[in-house]
Amino acid sequence: MTDARNAQDARSTQRTEVARGARDGDGTRVVRAGLPAEEPYAPPMPGPVLAAHYHLPGDPAHAPYTYGRDNNPTWTALERAISELEAPGDETARTTVFASGMAAISAVLLSRAKPGDVVVLPSDGYNLLVPTRERLEGWGVEVRTAPTGGDAQLDALDGASLLWLETPSNPGLDVCDIRRLADAAHERGALVAVDNTLATPLGQRPLELGADYSVASGTKALTGHGDVLLGYVTCRSEELAAPVRSWRKTVGAIPGPLESWLAHRSLATLELRTARQAANAIAVAEALRGRGEVSDVRHPGLPDDPAHGTAARQMRRFGCVVSFTLPDKEFAERFLAALRLVGDATSFGGVRSTAERRGRWGGDDVPEGFVRLSVGVEDAADLVADLHAALDTALDAALDATGGRDRPGARNG
Ligand SMILES: *Cc1c(COP(=O)(O)O)cnc(C)c1O
Repeated sequence: MTDARNAQDARSTQRTEVARGARDGDGTRVVRAGLPAEEPYAPPMPGPVLAAHYHLPGDPAHAPYTYGRDNNPTWTALERAISELEAPGDETARTTVFASGMAAISAVLLSRAKPGDVVVLPSDGYNLLVPTRERLEGWGVEVRTAPTGGDAQLDALDGASLLWLETPSNPGLDVCDIRRLADAAHERGALVAVDNTLATPLGQRPLELGADYSVASGTKALTGHGDVLLGYVTCRSEELAAPVRSWRKTVGAIPGPLESWLAHRSLATLELRTARQAANAIAVAEALRGRGEVSDVRHPGLPDDPAHGTAARQMRRFGCVVSFTLPDKEFAERFLAALRLVGDATSFGGVRSTAERRGRWGGDDVPEGFVRLSVGVEDAADLVADLHAALDTALDAALDATGGRDRPGARNG
């Protein structure tokens, strides 16, 4: 290589590293996260590498790429990007990407827990933690559960080897103090994992708050377009990451290269999307609070929300999910059917607003009229108007069914 080329390489590496500096703002870091150093005539973001195997002469021990279930350059770039966002400036953090959020969650829980171990889960976490718990118990692991709110998992820690937190919790939007729980768990020799799906790495950085693992579904707000299933585990160290990677290889829970590339591409707009969605969520939550037929409006960014105090200490953005309760199942169904801009769909975090009556799945401990609303990037005024109109429609139908009793003033307040 010529000196000129060397100098050029050094300059472009320096430029990239400056751009990735942990001191830069989120909007600056996301557009370059995980990208290679600039090179003349190379694309800024290399395309997806579709390969089941790689040319592999001789001893594979130190080959970076061998077989498509073991590794892939498109995963490597995405894994670097997520590490830069989950743990800026931390050279020891390691990310492993998975086929889905559940593949990532089970990689930590199932690769770590051995018969006789004690694992502490949230009682109000993602609904697939219930069958995961049954699987762990079938393998002789003792599983204890406690609610997220009030740091109630603290009381279940004696003898535990792994503490699993989900904050904010889905769908209840309760928050626990990661630092406080991680310190207590570490004092007892337990490792700590946080499901960071709802917050995204721009909303919360669990490793900086003391956790050993930040685990998330990238299907939701991280990628934000409702077109990819993905999961990841970011570990504090290579020592913790090795068994997670080995689990991925053993069970084959690998993401497709195209999905990984789409996910990486979508990170460039993560700051724009999360900022807009968080602002929209506040506007929508405030509008819903003004309606008499809506109760229990929850969003960690509302200053008087029960979760706000802890959320404000450990979160940098409060996410796009708003939950609330309507009078009953029929009311909620009429409301959802009447919405024009908000699709009736599960999942959350997408650019298009969606909502669902969570009770339809049967897995969460929520009232029949409980609605989980994921606020997208539409104009806030349009969303607020749509929610008011759909509430009016549902209210009119409810009043017709009761012969118009209570009509005066029912729409106010
Ligand atoms: C959706 C979700 C998961 C599961 O992710 P998938 O990508 O659907 O497998 C896990 N945890 C939380 C909090 C979620 O919202």
